[in-house]
Amino acid sequence: MTPPPTATHCPYCALQCAMTLTPAPQGPVPVSVTPRDFPTNRGGLCQKGWTSAEVLTTPDRLTSPLVRGADGALHPATWDEALDLVAGRLRSIQEQHGRQAVAVFGGGGLTNEKAYALGKFARVVLRTPFIDYNGRFCMASAAAGANRAFGVDRGLPFPLADVGGAQAVLLLGSNLAETMPPSSQHLAAARAAGGVVVVDPRHSATAALTDDGAGLHLQAVPGTDLTVLLALLHVVWAEGLVDTAYLAERTTGADEVRRSVAAWWPERAERVCGVPAEDLRRAARLLAAASPVHGGTGAYVLTGRGAEQSTQGTATVTAAINLALSLGLPGRVGSGYGAITGQGNGQGGREHGQKSDQLPGYRRLDDPAARAHVAGVWGVDPDDLPGPGVPAVELLRRCGTPDGPRALLVHGCNLVVSAPDNQAVRARLAALDLLVVCDLVPSETTELADVVLPVTQWAEEEGTMTSLEGRVLRRRRATEPPPGVRSELEVLHDLAARLGVTRGFPTDPAVVFDELARASAGGVADYGGLSHARLDAAEAAGDGLFWPVPATPDGEPDHPGTPRLFADGFPTPDGRARMIAVDHRGPSDDLRPDAPLYLVTGRVLQHYQSGAQTRRVPALASAQPEPFAEVHPLLADRLGVADGEPVEVTSARGTAVAVAHVTTSARPDTVFMPFHWSGEGSANRLTTDATDPVSGMPEFKVCAVQVRAADAG
Ligand code: SF4
Repeated sequence: MTPPPTATHCPYCALQCAMTLTPAPQGPVPVSVTPRDFPTNRGGLCQKGWTSAEVLTTPDRLTSPLVRGADGALHPATWDEALDLVAGRLRSIQEQHGRQAVAVFGGGGLTNEKAYALGKFARVVLRTPFIDYNGRFCMASAAAGANRAFGVDRGLPFPLADVGGAQAVLLLGSNLAETMPPSSQHLAAARAAGGVVVVDPRHSATAALTDDGAGLHLQAVPGTDLTVLLALLHVVWAEGLVDTAYLAERTTGADEVRRSVAAWWPERAERVCGVPAEDLRRAARLLAAASPVHGGTGAYVLTGRGAEQSTQGTATVTAAINLALSLGLPGRVGSGYGAITGQGNGQGGREHGQKSDQLPGYRRLDDPAARAHVAGVWGVDPDDLPGPGVPAVELLRRCGTPDGPRALLVHGCNLVVSAPDNQAVRARLAALDLLVVCDLVPSETTELADVVLPVTQWAEEEGTMTSLEGRVLRRRRATEPPPGVRSELEVLHDLAARLGVTRGFPTDPAVVFDELARASAGGVADYGGLSHARLDAAEAAGDGLFWPVPATPDGEPDHPGTPRLFADGFPTPDGRARMIAVDHRGPSDDLRPDAPLYLVTGRVLQHYQSGAQTRRVPALASAQPEPFAEVHPLLADRLGVADGEPVEVTSARGTAVAVAHVTTSARPDTVFMPFHWSGEGSANRLTTDATDPVSGMPEFKVCAVQVRAADAG
């Protein structure tokens, strides 16, 4: 009998589009994909979602552990051989060099259960402080800004569908129309009202949504989003557009912010960001008019990676929040501030203990009460839990150095492509005594590994993911994994047992989730009232559940979840949102005579992250086959480069070669490169590993480069 269709969600981005997988026993892939109606995607899928099943049977799928032999090559090994080797090497490295000589690097694509188990493994089995994850590359500044201002970080503290009723939406550094196309349906009302404002150095697919009177595109100089926000704040304060009653009742720090933006009149900001002062004024007035205090139907301020992946990312997010608070938006139904999370489980991945400074439930690792609670669930002494480690970029900088980690376990991340200044990262990984990588397919990082462990992927496993809205969703098994492949929960169980911890690492995702729920209970991200069974029922009823979902005092699993945060105040000690004055510093790697152009990096429709999965899907690879650099026609003329010809892009870190796409969507002073490719076309050969001082997030989005025709001699 053919198994029934399975309701699940897309394996890629944080929109987590709903889909149905139907067994296709006669087809080239084991399941066929059809979109499912859900409040976020409303029946839509992008090209990545439609083709996602093809990764299940990609011809070079990893199906056996690989161990590097004396000849320097990777060779198939049995699971026992590979796991015995890994456990033995980890034990001897820690005996020789201390517990901190082993580090763990996780990923924002791991299910909640895997992210939780990985954090517990690092702290209970390895007892190392050194664990962080690739969400540090994509969400850390938004998280730091929201935690500081609101006392909680949930990317969107409201359902995405709420945006559909807004009269105005300010999008800073988010190209959602290309990276998560179904989401742009929610901008229809704002477009009809002429209220979409997009801040982006490119005339991206999202910026194009503002064409024909649908809004404004503010084509700012890379690295200057903060000055755009400071100017908008200046205008709303100078023109008396702020919501004074809201500020008095619900915030602290408004006076300091008012004083700090007094000198950022639009003409001054224009000199830095290049956006005409009159457009800055129009944008501020448009947002204010849409705000409930002025009788509008609602307004949103939304940030994406363009604004956040910066050495002033937390400051930029803080200014965006200051603007939203000045207009009285957060906590009002139909208005607010939010960050558009990118990675599939970028939200859940940062809630359950993968971050260097956090425990499950979004608890702080340096909080004695948090340590005691989680240690109680784990059955260990709180004093045995290590303290906070260091953020991802610093962790990678220390790898392979005499006093740094000598062994690294990587789960769900292709660092050699996706890390900033990736050639330096490659060298550090190569200098390790032991590199272990769990992955589905060979990658540029598995090529360096001493041991590769093949693991299951999305449609082969049960689990949960948490979407960009904080909505906890079920991921369900629709097909059997290939023989020879294990889930990461099994890998962690088997490694823990070999390292002497024989309890506490179950392999059933539902059991892991129940423990995660207990560990998170009472924390900010409280999953205490959730279970796989409850989530199944909630999705069957139509829309899933938003955290926090605490366990109710009577023990009944009936808390309805919390779609909208802040209705009754902010989870800060005094219940008020904190407004914090910030100022502009400029990028860490600014223009200079030998590097007179900006480089900005980003995603394209067809590819996801390092491209390790999507580059293997024929339809996606043929639609977007090679690294490219967008170059404005004026710049192309100056360089003597025609569309389709190769260019060399050089920064202080290295050189990349890409095909020129000559387009007016670029600024004449800026080159755009997507970061999905490896080798000489890899954009992250060029990016800087300078980080935001608050969040530790690297400045992927701007650096200074030289560009020339590749054959210029
Ligand atoms: Fe939806 Fe994102 Fe998957 Fe595309 S990649 S189908 S937008 S979840």
